[in-house]
Amino acid sequence: MDINFSKEDEEFRREVSTWLNENIPDFWKGIRLQPFGEVPEEDDVVEFLKEWQATLFDAGWAAITWPSEYGGRDANVVQRMILDEEMVKHRAPPSLNMGGISQLGPVLIAAGTKAQKERFLMPMLRGEELWCQGFSEPGAGSDLASLRTVAGDKGDHFLVNGQKVWTSMPARYADWCYALVRTDKDAPKHKGISYLLIDMKSPGITVRPLKNITGSVEFNEVFFDDVKVSKENIVGELNQGWKVANMNLEHERLSLGLAFNLYNKRWLDDLIVMTRKMKRKGRPVVENPRIRQKIAQSYIEVEIGRLNGIRSLSGMLKKGRPGPESSMSRLWSSVVNQRMMELAMEIQGPYSQVDRGSTQSIEDGFWQYAYVRSKAHTIAAGTSEVQKNIIAERILGLPRG
Ligand SMILES: Cc1cc2nc3c(=O)[nH]c(=O)nc-3n(C[C@H](O)[C@H](O)[C@H](O)COP(=O)(O)OP(=O)(O)OC[C@H]3O[C@@H](n4cnc5c(N)ncnc54)[C@H](O)[C@@H]3O)c2cc1C
Repeated sequence: MDINFSKEDEEFRREVSTWLNENIPDFWKGIRLQPFGEVPEEDDVVEFLKEWQATLFDAGWAAITWPSEYGGRDANVVQRMILDEEMVKHRAPPSLNMGGISQLGPVLIAAGTKAQKERFLMPMLRGEELWCQGFSEPGAGSDLASLRTVAGDKGDHFLVNGQKVWTSMPARYADWCYALVRTDKDAPKHKGISYLLIDMKSPGITVRPLKNITGSVEFNEVFFDDVKVSKENIVGELNQGWKVANMNLEHERLSLGLAFNLYNKRWLDDLIVMTRKMKRKGRPVVENPRIRQKIAQSYIEVEIGRLNGIRSLSGMLKKGRPGPESSMSRLWSSVVNQRMMELAMEIQGPYSQVDRGSTQSIEDGFWQYAYVRSKAHTIAAGTSEVQKNIIAERILGLPRG
C-alpha cells in the first residue's frame, strides 16, 4: 500500500482547490444543510443542487474514475479521494444523486447492457435524473434476500407488486429507482431475485414520507401496485440479481465509509474550534485534561479511518471492485462518528440539551442534529453486526456463525 501522494496528485489537488474556490456560488454559502440525512425542503435549494451537479459534470468532476466515454475522465481512485477531500474541505454542496453515481453507476458500467449505459449514465451525472435505492422491505433488511416484492412475468414486461421502506432522500423527487425484486418464487431465496430499474413516474407507485428522529423527512415507504416495467430494464441476468446487489452494496459501503471518514476529519476540526470557545465554571473547556485526552483519542481514530480508507482504495485499484474490505471502512467510520458526537455533547455540557432554533443553542443545534443522526450511521448500508459478519467470514475466513 502506497500512502504517499505523487507530484501529479498534488498538482491535481491544487487544480481542484482552485476550481472550487472560483465556482462555489455565494448562494450556497448562506445555506446550512447537514451532509447526512437532511433533505432540502425548499424547491430553490433542490433546483440549485441539480444545477450544481450539472456544473460539476461540465467541468469534468462528476465521476472522475468512470471511463471518459461514460462522462468520467479515467482518473484513478487516489485522485477521486483527493477530489472528495477537497469538496469536503471547501464545504462544497453535496450531490443529490449520491446513490445513483456511487452505486448504480459502477454497477451499470460493470454489468449493464450497452443500451442501459447509453440511456442512463449521462442524465445521472448531469443531475437530470435522480435515483433512489429500493432494496429494504418491512421484512427484509439484514436478511435482504427474504424480500417479497414480486415482478410477475407478462411477456415483454413485468408487473411489480409490493412495498419498499427506508427509501432515502431522493425518493420524494426521484425519477428512477434501482430495486431488487423477486422474479422466481420457487427458487431458493438468493436465486430468484433480479435487479430492476423502475421509472418512479409509472402509474401504480405511491411514495409515503417518513419523518425520523432528527425531524427530517429523510425516508419514504414506496408502494408498487401493478407497476409495468420493461424487461429491458433488468441489470445483469434474470434471477441473478443477488450477485449484482452484492456489487452494489460493496460500492455503497465503500463510498459511505469514505464519506464518513472525510466528514469525521472536518467535524473534528470544527469540534476543536467549538471547544476553544466554550467555558465551564469560568474556565475554558479546552484546558480540561480529560476533554483534551478525548479529543486526542478522536484524532487517532479519525486518522486510522483515513489510513484504512486509503487501504480500501488501494485494494480497489488492484482488484477493480471494492470487495468485502469496504465493510471495514463503513464499520469503523460510523463508530468513530458516534463517539465524536457523544464527545461534542459532553463538551457542551447542559447546553447539549438546547436544540436548533433556540437563542441559547450553540451553533444553532448543528451538533445536536449530528449527534442524533449519528445513531443511524451504524444501521445504514447494513448494520454493524452485518459488517462484522462479512469481515469475519469473507476477510478473516472464520466459519459461518
Ligand atoms: C440512514 C439510513 C438510510 C437508509 N437508506 C436506505 C435506502 O435508501 N434504501 C434501502 O433499501 N434501505 C435503506 N436503509 C435501510 C437499511 O439498509 C436497513 O435498515 C438495514 O439493512 C437493517 O435492516 P432492518 O432495519 O430491517 O433491521 P433488521 O435486519 O431487522 O435488524 C435488527 C437488528 O438485528 C441485528 N441482526 C440482524 N441480522 C443479524 C445477524 N445475522 N447477525 C447479527 N445481528 C443481526 C441487526 O444488526 C440489528 O441490530 C437505510 C437505513 C438507514 C438507517
